[in-house]
Amino acid sequence: MARDEYNDCGPASGWDLHCHTVFSDGTKTPAELVALADANGLHGVAITDHDTTAGWDDAQKAALSRGFPLLRGSEITAQDEHVSVHILAYQYDPQNEGIITMFQATREARIERAKRMVSRLSKDFPITWDDVLRQTKKGEETTVGRPHMADALVSAGFYRTRSQAFAGAISSSSKYYIPTPSPTALQVVQVVKQAGGVSVVAHPSDLSRNKVLLSDRQIARLAQGGLGGLEVWHRGNRPEERERLLDLACRFDLLVTGGSDWHGEGKPNKLGENLTCDSVVAQIVRRGAIKLIA
Ligand code: AMP
Ligand code: FE
Ligand code: FE
Ligand code: ZN
Repeated sequence: MARDEYNDCGPASGWDLHCHTVFSDGTKTPAELVALADANGLHGVAITDHDTTAGWDDAQKAALSRGFPLLRGSEITAQDEHVSVHILAYQYDPQNEGIITMFQATREARIERAKRMVSRLSKDFPITWDDVLRQTKKGEETTVGRPHMADALVSAGFYRTRSQAFAGAISSSSKYYIPTPSPTALQVVQVVKQAGGVSVVAHPSDLSRNKVLLSDRQIARLAQGGLGGLEVWHRGNRPEERERLLDLACRFDLLVTGGSDWHGEGKPNKLGENLTCDSVVAQIVRRGAIKLIA
């Protein structure tokens, strides 16, 4: 796509390709996601819970019963030379062995990491692992993360909101923070490709997640490894960084996507606040291994 095909703030109408539900750290069900996307006049929506496909069936049922278009995806935890990276993956085969093995390993690593963080936190904030588990809405099907630890701190009265906990003890710069051991971004891109999906770097320029951003060189290497796109339209990407990302997308022929990173009540992000245009979604559907639900 030519550089001048993009404006500076993403499409005014289209699809929200970045949404979380109760199967990870969102507060609403997949059916509520689909209903709200429909009510808000979006063209379609993607479910992208962290490191899981557990919400796909519920989302699919809701989409089919309303005749509302749905992409199926996930946001996959990765790292690249100490930079924490999230890779959005769409329309891949959920039965692929590489995908199943990767999700299982990351979900186990997340639990170990969460237990270690809770043990650090508990020295100053008396919360237990059970307090964190009580915050998961889908039991063992839930992908556990820092938001559930934040909710446990809120429930115990140490913070008023999840966001305040993220500004304090739960922040990635706090002394309690431990990163999740995860595959490299290149490994994730390759696994998604083998599973027939399309991979997109989520919020590549979000400085609240990383002090150092992915460099042009790192993005170039992912593009050579089969990366499909960059999530340019996301509230975490600063305006001057969006220019850099658009130039990279143009240089490496990457799709440009947008998404809200909606978490229901779990984050201030509003469903549909950033969108992906229909022609980009059509490319994702054309390249993907599974059917569009519509
Ligand atoms: P983790 O993957 O366990 O390190 O947790 C990171 C998750 O926390 C991401 O999915 C973010 O969406 C979420 N998160 C980050 N900052 C905030 C915030 N200020 N309020 C609520 N959720 C947040
Ligand atoms: Fe999240
Ligand atoms: Fe993310
Ligand atoms: Zn997200």
